[in-house]
Amino acid sequence: MKNELFMRIKASLVNESFIRSSIASFVAYLNPSVETIQEIKTAVSEAITNCIVHAYPNHDDYIDIDVSIEKGLMLIKIKDYGIGIENINKAREPFYSTKTKEERSGMGFTLMETFMDSLVVRSQLNVGTEVVMEKHIVGV
Ligand code: ATP
Ligand code: MG
Repeated sequence: MKNELFMRIKASLVNESFIRSSIASFVAYLNPSVETIQEIKTAVSEAITNCIVHAYPNHDDYIDIDVSIEKGLMLIKIKDYGIGIENINKAREPFYSTKTKEERSGMGFTLMETFMDSLVVRSQLNVGTEVVMEKHIVGV
């Protein structure tokens, strides 16, 4: 069976923990290890926070979240319709941030890449950004 979850939610900081914990709950039936759950939560949190703090500088808008699980492989897509990223390769470099004055360390993409099995970033200026992450679920 291919299991699927679709959510559209406001890109507001108040929703970050809801999204993080609902994605963690969604995969719970596969009995993932505590470590796997923590890794997924961290990666999701970074991707969602990016949509909230970077994508919509002038007003709130939506984040689309699409999660599927098939044969132990979890696929998470997180998409916004915001300002986009000019140089994706640069944005993915450790410590690169366009918001250095606001306590951003520039480690979001690096954490996603470290904790997930794959990370694809697609973006177009003033159209939006999509982050696609894969994780093999190791059960306990
Ligand atoms: P940290 O995640 O450590 O708080 P950060 O968010 O700046 O800092 P990354 O998450 O690695 O670091 O992102 C790097 C840069 O990519 C950001 O500073 C921002 O310029 C750009 N960026 C990331 N996600 C988006 C997005 N969804 N929309 C627009 N720009 C983005
Ligand atoms: Mg970030």
